[in-house]
Parts: sequence; structure tokens; C-alpha cells
Amino acid sequence: MKKIVFATNNAHKLQEVRLYLNNLYEVVSLKDIGFNQDIPEPYDTLEENALAKSQTIFDKYQIDCFSDDTGLEVEALNGAPGVFSARYAGEDCSFQDNVDKMLAEMKRQTNRKARFRTVVSLILNGEKYYFEGIVNGRIAEIETGTDGFGYDPIFVPGDLNTSFAEMNLEDKNKISHRGRAIAKLVDFLKSIP
Ligand code: IMP
Repeated sequence: MKKIVFATNNAHKLQEVRLYLNNLYEVVSLKDIGFNQDIPEPYDTLEENALAKSQTIFDKYQIDCFSDDTGLEVEALNGAPGVFSARYAGEDCSFQDNVDKMLAEMKRQTNRKARFRTVVSLILNGEKYYFEGIVNGRIAEIETGTDGFGYDPIFVPGDLNTSFAEMNLEDKNKISHRGRAIAKLVDFLKSIP
């Protein structure tokens, strides 16, 4: 089977992506290829940060690879935290710190519309490609559910009444930002002879 590097060490994401690329590619992580450094994400767009990660791996290993960068964009907060979603509550903060900060910021907001946006950067045979996935939803008033990671307990997709953290991985993948971006990536990879 062909090998492709997913430039991440996030076990949740790897599990999600392997479900999709099962039978097509062996998806290996940064750890699997012995890459142990932190790749900086210094830019203020998802596209540039995603490319920074795949380019770093391609430059070092000349292997097909892809990476993703995601932001949670909240309408009442003018699109924040966006590209800074991981560090919303400060450097080295936890997922829970970010959730707590978001609930505090949104306390008196009636407009709770939000969306997750993922950009996947693929480098295949040295060529660069991008795939985007978006899921619209809203920020809940309280946390519910225990599955998933990040903002999952307070993000309610579409017209549903359940948070991402109340869904199993398969159901989340079908509608999620990353699921949609990865589905486009998979379609593309399948179309390559
Ligand atoms: P990353 O670029 O995928 O690392 O995402 C940046 C931040 O967005 C992460 O720190 C997570 O808190 C959040 N995030 C990304 N994807 C998801 C998701 O599927 N559910 C909840 N939060 C997410």
C-alpha cells in the first residue's frame, strides 16, 4: 500500500483520517516517521499554516504528505478565535481553558452562530494542492458530551441539538469541517491513476 504522511501527532485526527483513507493509503504520523520537532505555525491564515507543515515534511523527507489547519470562527466575535483557536486562552492552554474562555466571551451574546473551517494542504509528487471544509453551527450555552476534543462539547452543528462531543466519530466525520476537507482530499487521491 502507498504511504502518505499526515503531518500531525493528534491521535483523534489520525483516527478520523485513517477511517477515510483505509484501503487506499497507509497513513503515518510525524511520530511514525521519527519527526519530533514542533513545526511553527506563525501565519495568520489557515492556508499558510497548513502549507508550512506539509512543506517542512516534504523538504526533509521528499515524501507525499498532507497537513491540516483548523479555526473556529464565531460571528459575534468577528471571526475569532479563527487561526488562533488552539491558543485562544493563551500559550500552552488546555482544551478546557479554551472552552471556558469561549463560554465566558459568549455569555451575553444572542448571536451564537459559528463555523469550523479546515484547510488541508497536500504535497503530492512535489505539487501543492488545497482542500477546504466548512461546518456551520452555533456555540452552545453549556458543555455537553464527552467524546472528541477541543471545542466539541460546545459546538452544535447545523440544526441539530447535539454537540460534536455527543456524536460518535463516524457521525461527526460525515458532517465535520475536517471530514469534508478530507473527503475532498480522498476524492482527489482516488482520481489519481
Ligand atoms: P488544528 O489546527 O486542527 O490544531 O485546530 C486548532 C484548534 O481548533 C484546536 O486546538 C482545537 O481546539 C480546535 N479544533 C480543531 N478541530 C476541532 C474539532 O474537530 N472539534 C473541536 N475543536 C477542534
